[in-house]
Amino acid sequence: MTNYRPSWAEIDLRNLDYNFRLVKKIVGPKIKILVPVKAHGYGHGLIPVSKRLEKLGVDYLGVASIDEGIVLRNAGVTKPILILGSILPGDIEPILRYRLTQAISTMDVAEKLNQAARSENALALVHIKVDTGMHRMGVYYEEAYNFIKYIAGMDNIRIEGIFTHFPCAEEDTDFTKKQIEIFGSLIKRLEEAGINIPLRHAANSLGVIDYPLSHFNLVRPGLMVYGLYPKQGIDSISVKLNNKKVNVKLRPLLTLKTKIVHINTVSAGKGVSYGYAYITSRQTRIATLAMGYGDGYPRCLSNKAYCLIGGRRAKIVGNICMDQMMADITGIKNVAVGQEAVLIGRQDKESVTAEELAQLAGTIPYEIVCDLGTRLSWVYKE
Ligand SMILES: *Cc1c(COP(=O)(O)O)cnc(C)c1O
Repeated sequence: MTNYRPSWAEIDLRNLDYNFRLVKKIVGPKIKILVPVKAHGYGHGLIPVSKRLEKLGVDYLGVASIDEGIVLRNAGVTKPILILGSILPGDIEPILRYRLTQAISTMDVAEKLNQAARSENALALVHIKVDTGMHRMGVYYEEAYNFIKYIAGMDNIRIEGIFTHFPCAEEDTDFTKKQIEIFGSLIKRLEEAGINIPLRHAANSLGVIDYPLSHFNLVRPGLMVYGLYPKQGIDSISVKLNNKKVNVKLRPLLTLKTKIVHINTVSAGKGVSYGYAYITSRQTRIATLAMGYGDGYPRCLSNKAYCLIGGRRAKIVGNICMDQMMADITGIKNVAVGQEAVLIGRQDKESVTAEELAQLAGTIPYEIVCDLGTRLSWVYKE
């Protein structure tokens, strides 16, 4: 694909450095860090993000599937990789071949992995996933002790980690604290039985920020490492650094840009774009931008979101098309074809954030960044 289409995502990897080091400062030097790079590094690019994290000294990378793990190994990534999701029992073989660590929630997968490892005279690394209330995957906590005891007896499996996940860290503090407590007491009970699992983890981004007791000895922040806020309505985080409560800002990696490819002046009372979902109320200058839902910009932001042109906020008017969208630039001076428009990011003093778009679209910032399409050009700032 050529790069004539002027629509691109800029990923500033220096901000990844900043956010990663901030996590490190928050959790302290003794606690290890796993960064989830699933779904193309939250849409930021699986390989560039992972390689940068390797350089930064990340302890573990987290992926959703075997396939993502294979892509990383083939790209030369050597850090440990945990597959956070469940796999099908028939898909064991690449786990060993690519030195991936598997999250285990069922006896079936554990036994298949043990057999496969035995036949190759290998040792399979696993992290036991404990369900403390998410009800997505994991062995239910009430059954976890016996389950783990049994797996600990398998010759060709090494239980390197144990983890759980929070479904409501934003919505329900008491419930989340209860999960941390349940998880902690399970670890204690296992220790008393002589089962010492080296890595214990529970904290997603919100765990890192709001639940110090969830840090155990490894944390798994995703969103905040990409510079986005894991809670609605905040634009800084309040954390303890060097025993002092401070407010700090995260630095988003992503800027989404395009260019104006056409400008026209539309008189009052005219419809704009498909379905005439926007009717001009006055003479309106319309800039057509080379970006649409085919690039991952959500169509449901039609008539809702703003972009930045000439340092000003310009409203997206009319239905967003597959390849184009229109912005009202009436009153913005000196706008010309070929000029840059920022869809996510800053221009002078103005900014549009992924969080703002998520709120307008009725979704979460995770989905905004993950959905960015393959048609965009990707520019990495080192
Ligand atoms: C994606 C993921 C995370 C990261 O969550 P954030 O909210 O992005 O910090 C942590 N743990 C598991 C199991 C995940 O799948």
